[in-house]
Formats: sequence, C-alpha cells, structure tokens
Amino acid sequence: MSFSSILGQDNTVKRLRALIGSGRVPPAIIFHGAPGIGKFLTAVEFAKALNCSHTEHRERPPAPPAPDENDLFAAAAAPAPAPEPELPPARVHTDLSDSCGACLSCLQAASGAHPDIRIVDTAFQAALLDEAESSNLKIDTMRELTRWAQQKPMLAKWKVFIVRDAEAMMPPAQNALLKTLEEPPPGTVVILTVSKKTSLLSTIISRSCMVEFGRLPAAALKTILEAQGTEPVQAAALAALGAGSLEKAADAAAFLKQVSALRPGDQSKIFKFAAGLPRDSHKAREEVKTLLDLLLAKTRSSWAAASGPAKVKFTVLLRRTLDLRRMADRNVSYYLLLETALLESERGGIKIEDLVRPVA
Ligand SMILES: [Zn+2]
Repeated sequence: MSFSSILGQDNTVKRLRALIGSGRVPPAIIFHGAPGIGKFLTAVEFAKALNCSHTEHRERPPAPPAPDENDLFAAAAAPAPAPEPELPPARVHTDLSDSCGACLSCLQAASGAHPDIRIVDTAFQAALLDEAESSNLKIDTMRELTRWAQQKPMLAKWKVFIVRDAEAMMPPAQNALLKTLEEPPPGTVVILTVSKKTSLLSTIISRSCMVEFGRLPAAALKTILEAQGTEPVQAAALAALGAGSLEKAADAAAFLKQVSALRPGDQSKIFKFAAGLPRDSHKAREEVKTLLDLLLAKTRSSWAAASGPAKVKFTVLLRRTLDLRRMADRNVSYYLLLETALLESERGGIKIEDLVRPVA
C-alpha cells in the first residue's frame, strides 16, 4: 500500500507528497473533513512515506543447524559449510515522496508494529489506561503522548503521532497536547484527524497546518465499496446515496437492510421503524438525515420519470421532503420528523420498502 491506495483525494495527496518531497514537514497537521472520506488512511500513508527508507528489506534464509561437536561421527561426516550465497542487490525505490512498501519501516507500519508511528484513539487509550473504552480522549493519554514525543525515534527518522477523531479530546486534553505543538521536539509530527475543526481550540488550530479533505467522488466511492465486497449494482446505489462519504454509504446500507426486514403489509411498520432510532440525539439526527436523503433520492428519480398529474404530485412531495430535510439540522424531535417524512412519502406514492430498490 502507498498513496496510490487513497482514492478520490488526488489534490490533497499531491499537496502532502510535495510537503514530504520538500523536506519541510510541519510538526502539527490537522486533517479535516467529513467522516468516512479517508483522512485516517491518508495519515497512515503519510507516516509511512515519511519514515520509508526506500530500500527493500531482505533477510537471508536461516542457516542449517551446525553439527553437534560432541557427536564425532556426525561432525566428521558433515560437509564443509557452503559459502553464503550472494544476495542480488536490494531494490531501491526512487520516489522519495511515497512509501515503497518493501523496506523494514514499511513492513513494520503495515503490520501495525512500527515503534515510531503511534495511533492514539479511544481504543488505544482503553489499553493504555487499562479501563473500558470511553468516548473521550483524556488528559492522561495526552500527557503520555507528550512524554513519548520527548523521546528520540527508535528506528526511523520521524516520530509520528496520529490522533484519530481528535474531537474526542475535551478542552483540558487539548491543552495538555498544546505544549507538544508549541515546542515540538525535533523529528516529531502530530497529525490530528477531525470531522469538525470547530471542535478544536483556536490555540491548537493556530499552531497547525490545515489540510482539508473533500467529499469522495461517487466513482471513487463505488470503487472502494466494490473492493470491500459490495455487489456492483448495490455499490452504485450506495455511492449515489453516500454523499461522498464511506461512513454515510455504510449508514445507508444499514438502513436498507433494516427496511428490507419490514413486512410490506404491516400497518405499523413506519412507527416500528421510527421507534428503532438511537437514543443518542446526535446519532438519531445523523440517521434521520441519511433516511431523508434516501427518500429525496427516490422521490427525485420518481419525479424525473413521471409526467402529467403524477409529475405535479411528485413536485409537491419533493418540496415537502426538502423542507423536512432542512428541519433535520434544527433542534426538533427526530422521531416525529422521521415519522412525518415516511407517512407523507407513503401518501405521495413513495413507500418505505421502495427504498430498497436501487435508484435508477
Ligand atoms: Zn519503505
């Protein structure tokens, strides 16, 4: 794997490669953009490319065991050891702005065991502090990061810390990290990946190089979904609904699965469906937005295919669904909003089970 494995972020990858090529790597970088668009994977590739030695790693095959010196017969019968065969020269990777995938550093990074590339997230924190996984990154974890940053790299040129979903740091934890960003030890890079940069303190932002990630083009999203094993027709439908985010496409896929489990004749199916919303209001809002996007896509395709009075009917429904979609960004009851949208769509001719059929 190298930067070529990052799809749909060509300009950003170009910019990062230029940073590596120039040798002027900022000590603090913030990768920001919607969830599910490749920020974390790119951060890992960036760390690999920084630390790549560009020379293939080879190991000689283990030598055969030496004969036992106490066993005179075996020692006498043993042939003289053959000279070690010459290994062909190691392949050298000439592109210094990308990783080679074949040197010791790249092999260690690929197996998640690189001593100088540390991923800091809530799962890592749980192991570090020996406690259950929490949703926040704590001061103690950031202090530990600061301590590691003071140490010299063990193997590679750069010590890279990737703080994944950095919005999990509450302000006190961000303040604990600030010292490292203010006086970065030489050879240290801290990458924060974040969906909403407004969740970071202005003091963190002002000390960091901002790298924006755009939404994924539908073609890239489709390719990624197919590579993950989704059927091509389903991948195309999810890519259209995914709004440029792999995470959103996965939400849409989960919804479609839920919808396909509903019994079409069940009078209470809409209420049952809406009752299944998560209790967490942030998650509920995101799910309602995804479902409204699915309804909008379906209504739009029905509107495009319709004519005469049916077209007028779908125009009214489309406007109404758009209004409801806008309301999802306000402080409303998401349960009621979803129920209203589903009931009005059903009355307008778009049934919830129609959502399972891919949008043409
Ligand atoms: Zn390498």
